[in-house]
Amino acid sequence: MYPPLPTHRFEDIVSRIGPSATVCAMTSVLVVEDDPAIRASLIELLAGHQMVVRSSPDGFGALREVAQWQPDAVVLDLGLPDLDGADALKMIRGLSQVPVLVATARDDDAEIIKLLNAGADDYLVKPFSGGQLLARLTAVLRRCTSPARTFSPGGGVPGAGPGPLVLGELRIDPLARTVHLAGREIGLTRREFDLLSFLALNADRVISKRQLLAEVWRQTYVDEQTVDVHLSCLRRKLGERAARPRFLHTVRGVGVKLVSPR
Ligand code: CA
Repeated sequence: MYPPLPTHRFEDIVSRIGPSATVCAMTSVLVVEDDPAIRASLIELLAGHQMVVRSSPDGFGALREVAQWQPDAVVLDLGLPDLDGADALKMIRGLSQVPVLVATARDDDAEIIKLLNAGADDYLVKPFSGGQLLARLTAVLRRCTSPARTFSPGGGVPGAGPGPLVLGELRIDPLARTVHLAGREIGLTRREFDLLSFLALNADRVISKRQLLAEVWRQTYVDEQTVDVHLSCLRRKLGERAARPRFLHTVRGVGVKLVSPR
C-alpha cells in the first residue's frame, strides 16, 4: 500500500509562498491517475511550474473535482480502476468544457480518434516526457481560452451572452473573454475574469465573499482568503491599491463592490 499523497491545495500554496504575482498567473490542473508513482511525479512536475494541482486516483473522484473545484485543465489517464477512461471523458464533458489532455498507453489510430470524438482536446502516448506534457498542456490551455469557448462564470454556456460591459475606462467582453483598461488589454486568469465579470454585472452593489464563492467558485467551503487573493491580484492588474481604490472597493466586514465611475 502507498501512503495517501498530499493534495496541493490553492490555500496551502498561497500560505507557503504568499499572494505574489506568481499566484495571479496560476493555472489549476486536475491530475487523474491511479498509479501512485506516476501521479506523484505529475503533481511534482506541474506544481513545480507554478500550477495549482489536485489529483484523483479514480474517475468518480475526477468528476467530483471537475464539478466542484472547476480546474483550468485536466490530465486524464485512461486506465482507471472504476471507469473506462473514454466514459470518464464523456461524463466530464457532460459537466464542463474544461480542456482535457488524455494520457493513453494505446497509440492506435482508432483509439485516438475515439478519444478525440469523445471530447479530448489532445492526447499523450505513454511514456511521455515532462517537457512534452507541459508543452501540450500549454497549447491546449491557449486554444481553449480563445473566444466563445466559455462564457458564464465557471465556463458553461458557449457562444451566448451579452455584448461588452463598459464601466468608465474598463471594458469587459464576455464573448472574447477580454478586459481592456483605457484601451489596453489586461491579461486575467479564468477565475479573475469570472470574478471581475460578476462584480461588473452587479456594479455598485456590495457582494459578500460568501456570495462570490457561491457564484464565481460555485462552492462555499473554500476559504474566503482565496477570494482576497484573487481580489488583490485583480487590483494589481487594474493598477490600483486597496487603500486607494478606483473600481474595487472593500466594504469592511461586508464584502466588495465594483464602483462604476461617475
Ligand atoms: Ca492507469
